[in-house]
Amino acid sequence: MLKLDILAIGAHPDDVELGCSGVLIAAARSGKKTGVLDLTEGELGTRGTVETRYQEAAEAARVMGLSIRENLQLRDGFFANDEASKLKLIAVLRRYRPDIVIGNIMEDRHPDHGRAGSLIYDACFLAGLRQVKTQDGEGKEQEAWRPRYVLQYLQDRFQEPDFVVDVSDVWEQRMESIKAYKTQFHDPNGAGPQTYISSPQFMEAVIARARLLGKRIGVPFAEGFLSKKTVGLHSLDALVLNET
Ligand SMILES: [Zn+2]
Repeated sequence: MLKLDILAIGAHPDDVELGCSGVLIAAARSGKKTGVLDLTEGELGTRGTVETRYQEAAEAARVMGLSIRENLQLRDGFFANDEASKLKLIAVLRRYRPDIVIGNIMEDRHPDHGRAGSLIYDACFLAGLRQVKTQDGEGKEQEAWRPRYVLQYLQDRFQEPDFVVDVSDVWEQRMESIKAYKTQFHDPNGAGPQTYISSPQFMEAVIARARLLGKRIGVPFAEGFLSKKTVGLHSLDALVLNET
């Protein structure tokens, strides 16, 4: 069975692209196995349909070089951080055994994001407990697995990141993965009602955020992350030494 190095999880298809597609693209390029789990189908979205979201998510997966992309089919807007949701998520974590999980932030403009952040964080802990029982697709009991790191990517509301990662080398692909969601974001020829995320200003803000974080470490573009656990480096070689 495929084991993932990194599993990124989002409440809605496109959360992961906006938050951390740069590190996923860079990891896949260096030979790591990466995957995305969308918690809902984004069925409450004002623009597009569930079908177009699946097509767009598949296109974004191709751009990011993912090994897997799955959808947990929880209810958009109404899923709860309860036992049923946790067990469904734990089964996926134990199937793919990711060392690193990157999930939604703990508090944001869209209430789904914070709820997803808590659900992901709790499920990652519980997945490591042997007495929490789950089964694989064939009815076989799964082994416990706890990711070593549970990180959160930044979302709409700015929060001070614990660390930032240079994504300048994969910037074009990062934007391509976001623009794969043609029905969601700004399209000069697009039709349909305007939403918070479909304005040209939203996309400019996405770029400005990456510029702002990049400037802090002296690179063109960066993504920011939070971690409740202290992040450990093997050596100082991982540090960006540009002048700031
Ligand atoms: Zn979202």
